[in-house]
Amino acid sequence: MRAPRYGVGVRNRLDAIYLLRSKKYSCPRCKKQSIKRVSSGIWKCKRCGLEIADNAYSLTVKSLR
Ligand SMILES: [Zn+2]
Repeated sequence: MRAPRYGVGVRNRLDAIYLLRSKKYSCPRCKKQSIKRVSSGIWKCKRCGLEIADNAYSLTVKSLR
């Protein structure tokens, strides 16, 4: 039997989070679209190796402090 408590609303929200976190972000240091989520809140640039601690599901850092 299917679980009725997991409706369309929950699925859409999960899709949105998944899209946000699997998307590539541009690096504030080398300006390339090479930042990927390593784990919850940790983002790493594959090009210059920069690591950023930020939001768990999306990157909000636009420039280096
Ligand atoms: Zn970089």
